[in-house]
Amino acid sequence: MTAFTADYPGATVMPSPNHGERAGGRRPDMILLHYTGMPSADGALTWLCSEESQVSSHYFVFEDGRVLQLVPEARRAWHAGKSQWKGEGDINSCSIGIEIANPGHPGGLPDFPAAQIAAVAELCRNCGERWGIVPERVLGHSDVAPIRKVDPGENFPWKRLHEAGVGHFVDPTPITGGRFFQRGDQGQPVEALQAMLSLYGYATEINGLFDDRTEGDVAAFQRHFRPLRVDGIADFSTIDTLHRLLKGLPDRSDPAAS
Ligand SMILES: [Zn+2]
Repeated sequence: MTAFTADYPGATVMPSPNHGERAGGRRPDMILLHYTGMPSADGALTWLCSEESQVSSHYFVFEDGRVLQLVPEARRAWHAGKSQWKGEGDINSCSIGIEIANPGHPGGLPDFPAAQIAAVAELCRNCGERWGIVPERVLGHSDVAPIRKVDPGENFPWKRLHEAGVGHFVDPTPITGGRFFQRGDQGQPVEALQAMLSLYGYATEINGLFDDRTEGDVAAFQRHFRPLRVDGIADFSTIDTLHRLLKGLPDRSDPAAS
């Protein structure tokens, strides 16, 4: 455990031994948010800093907004596990991981205090500016590992983060009745939904079959972008919200666009 200088001026260094080289010398171009999912912040921190856990994150944010840096940003922290986004499988090599102290689903989804969210927003803004990270690549663990992971959870205030200038978000389309798709459905409309999820970045297989994986991807999408109801059913509100997010994306493949 060697000391290092914090990359983020607002952080106090507390080194974790769990890190390695970023594959191919990758620069981080994604920020991945987690909740700790443990009863106490101190317990989670001890775990992230102990060699036997083999997990870590770059940053740790306490409920009161204090920020610790555990791993230098240039190094590959071990927080994402098996995950995928936009066809990319080694999320640890391309991301900055932030663990947010919160007991999560096992602890009944307590609210994230305002001071903590303000600290997360400031940290994300700072990392984003220094590395040129685009808003739509500030994601949750559940986005890159649906079914396997549910953090930072449907109670995480993505909207407030967006209002603070972080991440990609549109107000979700209100939930109304109407046509919907769910597990077991198949055909062209299911294929179109899968294509939209895949275009946004989810690792959705486009096979025209509303299978378990599609259901998991829809639930992950809802957890982040339509948190009022997370049921894995592609109702109009879910599909329309996804459509509006896609429409709002700048074309990053065009080098003239910024
Ligand atoms: Zn996580």
